[in-house]
Amino acid sequence: MPEVESTDALAGVPDAFQRLWTPHRMVYIQGDLKPTHPGECPFCSAPRREDADGLVVARGTYAYVVMNLFPYSPGHLLVCPYRHLSDYPDLTPEETVEIAQLTQRAMRVIRRVSGAQGFNIGMNMGEVAGAGIAMHLHQHIVPRWTGDMNFLPIVARTRALPQLLGDARDLLAAAWEE
Ligand SMILES: [Zn+2]
Repeated sequence: MPEVESTDALAGVPDAFQRLWTPHRMVYIQGDLKPTHPGECPFCSAPRREDADGLVVARGTYAYVVMNLFPYSPGHLLVCPYRHLSDYPDLTPEETVEIAQLTQRAMRVIRRVSGAQGFNIGMNMGEVAGAGIAMHLHQHIVPRWTGDMNFLPIVARTRALPQLLGDARDLLAAAWEE
């Protein structure tokens, strides 16, 4: 899938968060995009790019919001500290608060834009827990709709997912400032 290969510097988490729930997507995520050293960390590089280029939705002082390159559902966002660290207890109080606040705002924005009916929110700490990119912690925000499992196989087959992600980013970034 050249579309995936061409976006390997974008932030993405091919982790168990999706594997557990969307096994049909393994075809799409089988390409191993995991960084092998910190210099390749997608969550460090994403905020260094232009927002649209890095799929960044919003930026805070200590953390930012980015589209997940491997969405479990449309609008799947990640909240990441700018600082490269892996363990939740290592967050400063300021980082902890801002990640929580960005998560709250992201939920409001996603609800307003998409009418999401529910959310899965959480972090996978460590590869043993299913973190695809364990070296840089990230909070998943996964909007849910009734019947979304029926929609996902259609999304998974498309070959223009990065473009769809860009469209979704534009929508969410605009709504973020409303
Ligand atoms: Zn990093």
